[in-house]
Amino acid sequence: MPAPGQPLPDFPLGYLSIRSTFVGFAVLGAALLSSGACDSPGITPPSSGEETTVGPPPGAEIVWPLRLTDDVDADSVSFPYGPRALATRYDFHAGIDLPASPGTPVYSVLPGRVVLVSRWDGSSTGPGNAVLVAHSEDRSTSYLHLREIEVVEGDSLEMGERLGTVGQTGASTPHLHLGYFVGLPRDTRVRDERLSRNPLELLPHGEPLAVTGEFTGQGVTLSVPLQQMTIRTIELSGEGDSRMLDYYEIAARGFNPRKEQVQNRVHIDAGRPEDGRFDLPLNPLDFTPDRVVVTDIYGETLLDLSR
Ligand SMILES: [Zn+2]
Repeated sequence: MPAPGQPLPDFPLGYLSIRSTFVGFAVLGAALLSSGACDSPGITPPSSGEETTVGPPPGAEIVWPLRLTDDVDADSVSFPYGPRALATRYDFHAGIDLPASPGTPVYSVLPGRVVLVSRWDGSSTGPGNAVLVAHSEDRSTSYLHLREIEVVEGDSLEMGERLGTVGQTGASTPHLHLGYFVGLPRDTRVRDERLSRNPLELLPHGEPLAVTGEFTGQGVTLSVPLQQMTIRTIELSGEGDSRMLDYYEIAARGFNPRKEQVQNRVHIDAGRPEDGRFDLPLNPLDFTPDRVVVTDIYGETLLDLSR
């Protein structure tokens, strides 16, 4: 997992300049409740230089929001955290989706205070009935697309206390969208996907699965776990040549599966996720790589593999 507290690299403006559909929301944090929180170019990441943790407080008990257990496998995530493409624009899925039947109870994963209750406006996309719970000064979780909301702003919640039920308000299928934010300001309407974190950094789960790779005849095939959706760049090198691939360009070609594409003279054809992973074959058109380096959005190396 990325080391907390590292400065984030600058993102190309193009990826952050597309306006969220929820710009019109006027209440605190509402835009962050949207599953597609993005934009706000130029905002300084909140955690630079300081030692921060993104997981649960030391010794804290924490539960998954649907089953009150501490051992749910991350493969129960139907839609991972990370960049994605909608039909007409780049988007960032600032949380994880957990499928469940309508009416399934939803529990607060940590003790906290309800700081925002947002009612569904009837639209087919958006946060729907949503609750934002602050667990400390700078850590919050959000619960979207609820059928019933069973709390009001100001309520104090125990870990595992029920706050509503699964629904599909603002969503096309019944599921809980769980968001996790670190450094979320309480008194502004800042929208920045970099304030969101992968909820799997918070929730108990098995060891994060590694990105792995295997060289093929003329290229390399990466195997990417859905837990690990923070890839930023992929560099292929060999024969005195090297090609840098932008993972956001790959993500922007559709989610499931990504559309076939050629980027920087490398043919890319992502497969469908299966068993919590998907294959990403990378085949350069005109050279044979003997090394692949995968780097995440925090600048950490996820994979460095040579033939
Ligand atoms: Zn979602």
